[in-house]
Amino acid sequence: MGDMQKKIVILGAGYGGLSTAVMLQRKMKLREAEVILVNKDSYHHITTWLHELAAGTSPTDKCMVDLESVLEPEKVKLLKAEVESIDLGQKEVYLSGGQRLSYDYLVVALGSEIESFGIPGVKEHTYVIRNLKTALAIRDQVERMFRRCKLDNYRPERLHFVICGSGFTGVEFAGELADRIDELCKEYQIDRDKVVITNVEASPTVLSGFDPELSEYAKAVLEKKGVVIKTSTPVKACTSDGVILHDQEECRSSTVVWTAGVRGHSITKRIKHETVRGRLKVDEYLRPPDHDDVFVIGDSSIIYGKKEGPYPPTAQMAVQQGAACAHNLLALLRNKPLQAFEPRIKGTLVSIGKKVAAGNVYGLKLYGSKASFVKKVVDYHYLYRIGGLKLVLDKLKGGERQGEKNSLLDH
Ligand code: FAD
Ligand code: NAD
Repeated sequence: MGDMQKKIVILGAGYGGLSTAVMLQRKMKLREAEVILVNKDSYHHITTWLHELAAGTSPTDKCMVDLESVLEPEKVKLLKAEVESIDLGQKEVYLSGGQRLSYDYLVVALGSEIESFGIPGVKEHTYVIRNLKTALAIRDQVERMFRRCKLDNYRPERLHFVICGSGFTGVEFAGELADRIDELCKEYQIDRDKVVITNVEASPTVLSGFDPELSEYAKAVLEKKGVVIKTSTPVKACTSDGVILHDQEECRSSTVVWTAGVRGHSITKRIKHETVRGRLKVDEYLRPPDHDDVFVIGDSSIIYGKKEGPYPPTAQMAVQQGAACAHNLLALLRNKPLQAFEPRIKGTLVSIGKKVAAGNVYGLKLYGSKASFVKKVVDYHYLYRIGGLKLVLDKLKGGERQGEKNSLLDH
């Protein structure tokens, strides 16, 4: 079989790429194909919990999965490397350090990047929630501001935390940060009234486009937690002193977090086809036109519903696409017909701090602790899919921040 063995290369071990790899390893016969999973880190980050890490309400270890612990090396090889570019003509991927990797079938699952909309100062002056390192940078900055206010005098901008964008990421982070601030005030003996969290949103509502009742509820919960919400207020610029709002008002802050949206990964641009906000348009089999051997899944690609317009980039979508992609890769290996991808959107839940959430599941609206419980079930169900009961128990045990190890983060 040796020479005949096809080589499948998967770029990115996020929700889409790891789901593809795990599904292949489960369904593929031994040596049916060579599968290589390329990721820049040796771990998978649980993005749906990164806002908790950023706020300091969850430990680092809880938000990462050691890739070797969920992969079977005889079926999926892990290659820790950074993808630099893709040559579809030559069927090659270029990795950092000059390494090249050829493929028969390619899965591009590199996720997304921050959308700055060309607003000045976003790249230079804001914190973002993208991966473990950027989330940890926020946690450290928040704690540093409290420490400095205790040690060398209080300054209002040090305890003013500005979150730009009240989409799902902005709301989830604001809720979590508000919970954490209460703890930090006690720890550093700082008056709670001195701390301000401002969430600035361009559109007239928080969670724009979401069910209006649920978005009103989310706003009310955040306000009850003390978050100042400014809707219909686009940020015009970010500076070293804070943000400038559309009416030239200056919001002075030492910590500005940019949660105003995402765009497809810049490497996806090299596949020269139509993109929408950097996300590559793909067909019903999740392939760019004219490239039958390439799949682009997750946040890097865009698909449209029959009526609803484009689907938003979510983990739910990336996981379903990963499973569909694995199915079709096996079909290609076995000369079977491909199956068109049909998303099954079960609902959307947004957390607003540790114990509260809001959303709809199978058409049913959920609020408060009930919604929060269901969100946790959904998050753990994903972990069960990639790492079985062992991973679920491991994460349930590792809920506290004390005694962090972070050994993987250093390698
Ligand atoms: P990712 O999961 O981002 O994976 C991309 C992978 O590619 C990463 O492992 C990355 O390290 C790797 N990579 C990137 N560039 C390179 C490179 N050049 N070389 C090598 N490797 C590279 N969605 C939901 O459905 N439910 C939620 O509750 C939810 N909560 C969220 C909370 C937060 C705070 C955020 C930020 C997002 C949340 N999302 C949620 C959205 C969800 O996380 C994304 O839609 C999902 O991660 C997309 O999966 P993906 O596989 O496309 O990309
Ligand atoms: P988003 O695009 O959903 O929201 C960004 C928000 O920022 C929008 O409301 C937009 O109006 C606002 N904005 C844009 N420019 C602005 C400006 N200049 N000033 C002020 N506000 C501005 O982006 P996101 O929240 O990062 O989410 C990205 C994707 O991840 C979405 O598809 C989302 O559904 C998904 N996600 C899902 C969950 C969940 O299901 N619980 C959680 C987080 C993220």
